[in-house]
Amino acid sequence: MSIILVTNDDGIHAEGLQVLRRSLQPLGRIVVVAPDRDNSAVSHSLTMTRPLQVRRIGEDTYTVDGTPTDCVVLALGRILEGRPDLLVSGINAGPNLGDDISYSGTVSAAMEGTMYSVPSMAVSLAGEPPFDYTLAGELSRKMAAKILDTVLPHNTLINMNVPTGSKHQGIRITRQGRRLWENAIQETEDPWGRKRYWIGGGTPVKDSSEDTDVKAVHDGYVSVTPIQLDLTNHSGISHIRKNWSLE
Ligand SMILES: [Mg+2]
Repeated sequence: MSIILVTNDDGIHAEGLQVLRRSLQPLGRIVVVAPDRDNSAVSHSLTMTRPLQVRRIGEDTYTVDGTPTDCVVLALGRILEGRPDLLVSGINAGPNLGDDISYSGTVSAAMEGTMYSVPSMAVSLAGEPPFDYTLAGELSRKMAAKILDTVLPHNTLINMNVPTGSKHQGIRITRQGRRLWENAIQETEDPWGRKRYWIGGGTPVKDSSEDTDVKAVHDGYVSVTPIQLDLTNHSGISHIRKNWSLE
């Protein structure tokens, strides 16, 4: 029987996590190891300044007072008896597209799994509240079954973004696009009148270039992007070698 590790960054009580667990149930034994609270936008951070506590709160269900990456590290190193056949992170309440991937705790958990050679996928609901996870749950199961049946390319994870609701236009295999934000710094004051800044909100600048995750979701499609861990710009190596005379 397949063992599937499920985690997220929205925390153990998130609806998306419960939907994901139920959806994947027919595929094998599901073990949930998730942060005990919301860890959105913590990226790939690892807690090294304090010890972590793992709590078993039900059958095959654990919480960690740390980040999504902490959860994966502890699941693989302590909680699970062997290596899982698959890791699925999500279903995140909100999209993880374009540049935002680098902030994402959801995608980072899947990156951590990939670093340990566990086939991994991140799933996000690409829409605004009220969230309807029906389609995202169904497609998570289909895609998970596909990954279990086939082989993911080396050092590669799947980043899937699904529109809310039960319908979609189709699936597009995409590349990572751009997603910058306008007016994403809110100015406010603390109770003593001192200026404070709150990062968040704002409006995404639309990336309308072809084949991107951002464009696919904007057009109402499910976006499936293979993400690689190697951040090297390989053409940049020859450019720097040739023009910078460093070596
Ligand atoms: Mg989140």
